[in-house]
Order: sequence, then structure tokens, then C-alpha cells
Amino acid sequence: MVVVMGHVDHGKTSILDYIRKTHITDKESGGITQHIGASVAEFNGKNITFIDTPGHEAFSQMRIRGSKIADIAILVVAAQEGFKPQTKEAANAIKKAGIPVIVAINKTDLPQANIDKVKHDLQQEDLLTEDWGGNVPTINVSAKTGAGINDLLEMILLVAEIENLQADLAAPANGVIIESSLDRQRGPSASIILQSGALEPGKIIATDSALGKIKSLEDSRGNKIEKLLPSHPAIAIGLDEVPIAGEMFSEFEGLEAARDFVIAKQREAKLNVQKISPEALSDGQKSLNLVLKADVLGSLEVLKETICQIPQESVALNILDAGAGEISLNDIKTARAAREAGGVTIIGFRVKTNPDAKAMAERDKIRVMNFDVVYEAIEWLRAYMEKIRTPKTERKDWGKMKVILSFWSDKKRQIVGGKMIEGEVKKNVKIEVLRGEEMVGQGRLVNLQKNKKDIPHASKGDEVGILFEGDQKIEEGDYLVFYTLEKNP
Ligand code: GDP
Repeated sequence: MVVVMGHVDHGKTSILDYIRKTHITDKESGGITQHIGASVAEFNGKNITFIDTPGHEAFSQMRIRGSKIADIAILVVAAQEGFKPQTKEAANAIKKAGIPVIVAINKTDLPQANIDKVKHDLQQEDLLTEDWGGNVPTINVSAKTGAGINDLLEMILLVAEIENLQADLAAPANGVIIESSLDRQRGPSASIILQSGALEPGKIIATDSALGKIKSLEDSRGNKIEKLLPSHPAIAIGLDEVPIAGEMFSEFEGLEAARDFVIAKQREAKLNVQKISPEALSDGQKSLNLVLKADVLGSLEVLKETICQIPQESVALNILDAGAGEISLNDIKTARAAREAGGVTIIGFRVKTNPDAKAMAERDKIRVMNFDVVYEAIEWLRAYMEKIRTPKTERKDWGKMKVILSFWSDKKRQIVGGKMIEGEVKKNVKIEVLRGEEMVGQGRLVNLQKNKKDIPHASKGDEVGILFEGDQKIEEGDYLVFYTLEKNP
């Protein structure tokens, strides 16, 4: 199993295309072909499986987890450009995965090609080439003319031989998921490559996120495979959920053992999420409950960290649950169960929503938002938080009265008379009691009278009596300031 990695535009796709054109056994001529995500090339009577798409999701898994998704890596470096950031990134991922590497120096047909510079760059990165005394094989190729491609294939077989790459057919089946999707008719569908053992329909496999009894195995032309052998790709039908590209799978004795495994893995995958208790919210602060789902744990971390950086003065974010994998029925149930604690929003990052989960979310009015870019998720969240935050109130001053007489009072209430010296007053306004410059108490206006008759409103110059309710005894000579708190739209 071979992966081709390297900087964008250095020729990964072109090299694969050239190999596919010239060496593919499984020619997709006629018949219905289906996309598997890997091609098997035949060379010198041997098969080499290439994982198709260079910018593939499975590769980010490889980067994040150091998954060994292939046996050999081809690092493509364009001869006129040398090492670039993604070349370095790819080289590190290959190192991390601990697999042998062959450097394909591509575009050697170009006049600007500088092979020595590439070798020098490789040396700088601790990849000393064979002809410079190291152990990294390099092959000069041109995906345009085809020069060197056969040498590259030969080198792959040679490295496989030197590394003694052999699969144990008697071992339990295990391998890697290279792509996955939900087939309308057949349910979860996974492109797999077997790494060891043999896989047949009827066997039970599990990844960290999905499990099931294999119903069928097919090649790229839809032909049934009775027995899948190592390094061969197939489409597997029969899993209960859509697995995540880049996940490893292995064989289990029974469904129960597989289920225990997945449950344990999912539990492990849950991040330590902090929950805020309602008491911990500050005055007027709202809380927004979130359930986060991302394709892989690495991106979940990124999402969670970025979300936690959003200022939360007005709205506190409460992450109820977080995990990797598609948005499932369970997530909707989690959201539903927590609904009385306020709104719950499920944020999906580079994941699909399971159709059943989607239907349940629609029925139960659970908000599910899907994003492919962290930035977009954050922008949406900020805007949404702004929308739900407690509306800011603005004080509006109505008028001022000078207290001339205090008529009656009990514990909380008091009737006073006085003269409006500024503005106006109406029922239900709030009141500040001023004694000289100092504000000594607060309350509200319960009733307003003029000439012992209730009135709704009075203004400057009017002599009025008011029923005050508040925490302070009003004295003659105090000023009462009338105001209201208006909500900002
Ligand atoms: P990827 O992004 O690494 O998959 O790169 P591509 O395979 O898409 O190639 C990027 C560009 O380089 C395309 O325009 C190719 O036609 C061109 N290219 C790829 N290999 C060669 C080569 O060997 N020689 C020349 N002259 N051009 C090449």
C-alpha cells in the first residue's frame, strides 16, 4: 500500500494518473464503476495499491494520529522548486508514521529542474539520499513524459522486498478506512484497504466509531469479492454507522465484543467538557448550551479551543458534550434532554448529520449547524450569541419633583406631596431619592394623584401626590428623580 504525498502542484495527481493510465489492472472499461479511493497497479507481475486522492481526509488522520495508512510513502518534490512547507509537513507525517519513504523528484523534464538542490533540501531535513551517503532512495521522474515512472515502481517493489513487507493471512483482519459515505439504499458504505488477515462477508469488524457484520465486499466495478486479501481495496457494506476516513478497523469475534470496543473508544474520545451551573452565571448573563461534533479528535480540539476564546461576558458557552463522528441520534437526544436548561445548539464541524438524527432534530426543533471551516463556525456563534444576549437597557430620565410634604408611611410605602420642577412623571416609573447631591434610596411610583384624584401623568409645575414604594424614608426637601429603563432593540 503506497501513499503519495508532497506540496500542492508538485505533481502527485499527475504521477498517479500516469501510473493509472499505464499500469492499472482494473481497467474501468464498460460496466458501472464505483469510486473506491485506491487503485491497484500491476508491475512485473506484482500488485501495488495506491491510495488515490492526495489531499485526502485519511491523510489528515495520518498527520494527527500518525496512523500507518500505508506501507510505503512517496514524497513528491518538484525539481524546479525543491522543499516547500507541505513537503516538510508530509515528511514529518511520514516520519511519525514510521514508514519507509521514496523521494520522487518530479518535473525533471523542465529546463529549470535542479536535482542537486532538491537533494540538498532533503539533507537539510534529515533525509539523506542514497547517493549522498544516506538511505533515502530518490528517483528522478517526469509525470509529463513518463520518464522514470517505471524506475519508481521498481523501487517500490524493491523497498517492499527489503522491508520484507509481508502480510499475515492467518491474523485477524485489520486495515484502514480510506473513504466513507452513506448509500441511500445500502446504508453506510466504506472504502477499505485490508492490511493483514483475510476478510470475507459475514465477518464482524469495528472502527473507533462504527461496527457491523460485513454484508458484502465489492471491487470498483461492483463485482462481489468472496475473500479480500491484504493490500487490496474494497467497498464494504454492513457497518451500523458511517466510519471516519483514516480510522483503522479490525476484526472481532462477535458483535458484542465489537460494540464494547466502540463504546469504550467513544467514551475515550469524549473530551473533558466543563459544564457551567446556573449559579455560576453572573447577573444578566445568559448561557448557550452546545454539543460539538467533529470529524476527528484533532479538529474537535481546534474547534473547542477556538470556541473557548470567544468572549463570554454576555453569553456563557456551556459545552454539554463533544466527540468525533457524524451527528447521531444520540447527540439529538443529549440536546433534547438538556433543553429545559435553555437552548441547545449542535455544532457539526466537517461531519455529516445522520438522516435519522436530522429528522429527529427537525421534529424536535433542535438547532443543528454544520460547518467546514472553523472560522465560519466561530463567526456564526458570535452573531448568534449577540442575538440572544440579554438586551442592554438604557436609562431614560423623565423628570424631577421636590418633596414638600410627607403624609403617611409604613414599612415599604409612603405617600408624599410635592411639585414637579422638571420634565414629567407617569405611573410605574422608577424613582431615585436625592438628598442634596447624594442618592439615598430607590423605589418606584405606585400611584400618582392630583387634587386627590388618580391621574396617569403630570408635568412641570404640577403639584402632585405620589405613592412611593421603596427602601428609603423620604424626607421633606428631598428630590425625586423619575426614570425608566428601556430595552434596546
Ligand atoms: P498535485 O497538486 O501535487 O497533485 O499536482 P498536479 O499533479 O495537479 O500537477 C500540478 C501541475 O504540474 C499540473 O499543471 C501538471 O500538469 C504539472 N506537472 C505535473 N507533473 C509534471 C512534470 O513531470 N513535468 C511538467 N512539466 N509538469 C508537470
